[in-house]
Amino acid sequence: HRNPNLQDELSELDKKYFLHPTSPIQQQQEHGPAFIFTRGDGIYLYDLSGKKMIDGMSSLWNVNIGHGREELGKVAKEQMSTLAFSSNFATFSNEPAIRLAKKLADISPGDLQSTFFTSGGSEANDTAYKLARHYWILKGQPNRKKIISRTKSYHGVAIGSTSATGLKPFRDFTNSLAPDFLHVNHHSSNSLRELIEKEGPDTIAAFITEPVQGAGGVHIAPHNYFKEVKELCEEYDILFITDEVITGFGRTGTYFGIEHDNIMPDMMCFAKGVTSGYAQLGGVMLSKKIHKVFSDMSTGTLLHGYTYSGHPMACAVALKNIDIIESERLIENAKRMGKELLDGLKIIQQVYPIIGKVKGKGLMGAIEFHNKNTEITLAPLIVNEAAKRGLICRSVVFDGQDTVVLAPPLVISKEELDHLLNILDDSIKAII
Ligand code: PLP
Repeated sequence: HRNPNLQDELSELDKKYFLHPTSPIQQQQEHGPAFIFTRGDGIYLYDLSGKKMIDGMSSLWNVNIGHGREELGKVAKEQMSTLAFSSNFATFSNEPAIRLAKKLADISPGDLQSTFFTSGGSEANDTAYKLARHYWILKGQPNRKKIISRTKSYHGVAIGSTSATGLKPFRDFTNSLAPDFLHVNHHSSNSLRELIEKEGPDTIAAFITEPVQGAGGVHIAPHNYFKEVKELCEEYDILFITDEVITGFGRTGTYFGIEHDNIMPDMMCFAKGVTSGYAQLGGVMLSKKIHKVFSDMSTGTLLHGYTYSGHPMACAVALKNIDIIESERLIENAKRMGKELLDGLKIIQQVYPIIGKVKGKGLMGAIEFHNKNTEITLAPLIVNEAAKRGLICRSVVFDGQDTVVLAPPLVISKEELDHLLNILDDSIKAII
């Protein structure tokens, strides 16, 4: 049994010493942490008080294979005990990084070939923008610098990835953004054409998009949008980058989200699901064409690299995680359970007229409330109520949205999903 004072002690220390990422600072200061998690198992998390919660967000859309997988702990321990770290700068290398890069080439869409490793998604995005610009320098078109992204997109919090992020509050937070980042309406390929022509195609390096916009509220693009956008990119010689940080590694019911539209990207960013959160890892993949320009035309040094690019332990964990995704057929499960999730949300939708749209692709789902007449947003209240009842989900209130989003682990069973939906239904009923 735990010391009953431990909760209070940790809570006080948390308030004083732990500045939380993406957090309401005042609320944190006043109340301390809502949950101090101590253990995970499958779709469940347990906190210090012993409370059991369904992790309906896979924590940060990333714990794809579920919590508490000892196989990954074993691999991490073995790798850490034999070679915890060595440099990959210049011509040094290590086996897990080499094998993971090869595996990624095998499973990724189109002809993506080589991988530049990072520690997470923000670094992956900044790397993609830098490599895209460097590509155009090598090609003799150094004026192609601009990066176009979509409204409601989330690409991370480094200065480049913040600048690309289409959710304005993230950009306004510092008011000191990188130049040459442009945003375009997230659902209109015509707006993209207009923007390209206004700016001049020969000033644009790349277009970046999430296949399904996650943090911005689970937005699924209109039919044919990506096809039209890819055609525009080809017409104007603009690189197409898919940000698969959330949608990669089975989340939407295919290995990578852009596969739904059969598109061959020039670059692909990934992170999160590559290790299911068991280690910190991300990266950018380059197509054959881009890789060839780098290898044939680069005469100097590739002056971009993180200390932890190709970290042996993180790469070993990723290999085992991918092994589990494949051997347990988790992508098929995400597709099947994704359909169940969307069907379940549609049933809930019919009960409550205040629900506008319900949306889903694989195990990313959302309920939009059309709650125009009041000052109160419902989603945060429902999320709060759900937490009391043992379900973690997330509210999105950017840009006047009032949405609850869900992204449970890919290992979820039908029974567990039904339980999740029941808690959600009860929470909505309790609030409206
Ligand atoms: N890109 C997308 C689509 C994301 O959802 C995120 C994080 O949520 C990022 C990039 C940033 O990744 P990280 O938080 O690992 O830096």
